[in-house]
Amino acid sequence: MKIYHPIQEIQASGIATAGISLRHGGVSQAPYASLNLGEHVNDDPNAVKKNRKILFQETGLTNLHYCRQIHSAFVVHVNNEARPVAAHAPEADALVTAQRDVALGIFTADCIPIFVLDVETPAIGIAHAGWRGTFARIAVNTITQMGTHFGTRPNNCQIHLGPAIQKCCYTVSTELMTQFTAEFGSTVANGTNLSLQTANVNQLLEIGVPPDAISVSEFCTACRTDLFYSHRAENGQTGRMLSFIRRNAKN
Ligand SMILES: [Zn+2]
Repeated sequence: MKIYHPIQEIQASGIATAGISLRHGGVSQAPYASLNLGEHVNDDPNAVKKNRKILFQETGLTNLHYCRQIHSAFVVHVNNEARPVAAHAPEADALVTAQRDVALGIFTADCIPIFVLDVETPAIGIAHAGWRGTFARIAVNTITQMGTHFGTRPNNCQIHLGPAIQKCCYTVSTELMTQFTAEFGSTVANGTNLSLQTANVNQLLEIGVPPDAISVSEFCTACRTDLFYSHRAENGQTGRMLSFIRRNAKN
C-alpha cells in the first residue's frame, strides 16, 4: 500500500527528496484512521508514535525537525547548535535549514504545505499556510529567512504547493474574501470560494520567483478524503498528514 505521495516537482531536481503522507497504512482508529501523524489532535499518542515509525521506515526519513504550528508567519532556522526536541519544538509555522542531515516537516489537513528548494545553495524550507499564514505572507517570509541565513534568492527557488483544500471547496465569508482580494488581487476569488493557492502564487511572483518554478498540486484534500485528511470536510475531527523535505546526501 502506498503510504506517501512523493513530490515529483521537487524530486525532479535530483537534489532533494520531498513528500506528503497519505491517510492509509497506519494504526490510528476513527476519526483519525489511520496514518495520523499529528500529536495535537487528541489521537492516542502511542498510535501516533507507531505511525511515525511506519512512515520513517518507508521513506528513510531521519532527523526530522518540526514546530508547534500556531497559524503564524514565524520561521525557525534549524541548525545543529539549536536542535529542538519534540516537547520543546518552537512555536512557528515554517522551518529553514542548509544542513543535509536535517529533514524539515509540517503537519496539515487542508492548509497548504509549501515546499521550497534553492537550487543554487544547500538551503531548503517548508511552510504551513492556512488562510492566516497565507495572509501574513509566510511563503515570502520563508524565502526571506533563507536569504538572510543562506543567501537564497527568489529567482533560484523551486516551489511546490502541496495537496490542500482548493477553490472548489473553500467557501469563505464575504469579509475574508474582501481582505484577500484587496491584498492579493481579484484572481484569488472564484465566486464565494477562495483560492489560497493563487494568493500564495501571487505573493511569490511579486518577490521574483519565476512563474515556471512554481507548481501546484492537482489534489484538493476536501475532494479527496479517500487519500488525505480534510479538516473542513471532516468537521474538524481528523488526523494530520506530514509533509517533508530534505537535501539528498551527495550533490
Ligand atoms: Zn475540492
